[in-house]
Amino acid sequence: MRLILFGPPGAGKGTQAVRITQKYATAHISTGDMLRAAVKNGTELGQLAKSYMDKGELVPDGVVIGIIKDRIGENDAKSGFMLDGFPRTVPQAEALSEMLNSTGASIDAVVSIEVNDEEIVKRILERQKIEGREDDTEDVVRNRLKVYRNQTEPLKSYYAEEGVLHEVDGMGSIDDVFGKIDSVLADLRA
Ligand code: ADP
Repeated sequence: MRLILFGPPGAGKGTQAVRITQKYATAHISTGDMLRAAVKNGTELGQLAKSYMDKGELVPDGVVIGIIKDRIGENDAKSGFMLDGFPRTVPQAEALSEMLNSTGASIDAVVSIEVNDEEIVKRILERQKIEGREDDTEDVVRNRLKVYRNQTEPLKSYYAEEGVLHEVDGMGSIDDVFGKIDSVLADLRA
């Protein structure tokens, strides 16, 4: 299965991703995690990425597209993967389609976790207290949310046109939301 987990920051993508990859044994590819690892290791990529991430802006398309291209070419991703945090712009989605088309593959489903803005800000400020992520301050969160609504959310119509978009209500408990995602994925397999 080739999946995209979609939704605003704080929608619970990371949490659900862990559960999905456990049950469906597929590679979990998170651009946010990969970029944070690069920042931590102080690589050139990390230094570049940090300047955008700290402001809640998107890292340039060319950079993340390059990372994803390398990553989905790795062995564990050959038979399937779940993308978390990518694509985030139309050019990223187009680049992904091209990469997959060249091997005759395609995206089976885009699961979009829907959460309203008020709940997002609440959840992220709560997470900030626990995890201390530098981009989880209120100003930066509001900017990430704005970037999401302007640049990323329009991708839903891109995938709706391809007939692979599934919207899931993300306002319930972790178990409730996982149950809804699981039923979408089980239907796909059936
Ligand atoms: P969240 O979804 O909570 O905002 P992520 O961990 O997915 O968090 O991403 C954190 C930051 O990493 C983003 O605000 C952005 O700066 C950068 N980033 C992650 N994925 C991408 C991407 N596909 N394109 C551009 N920037 C990205």
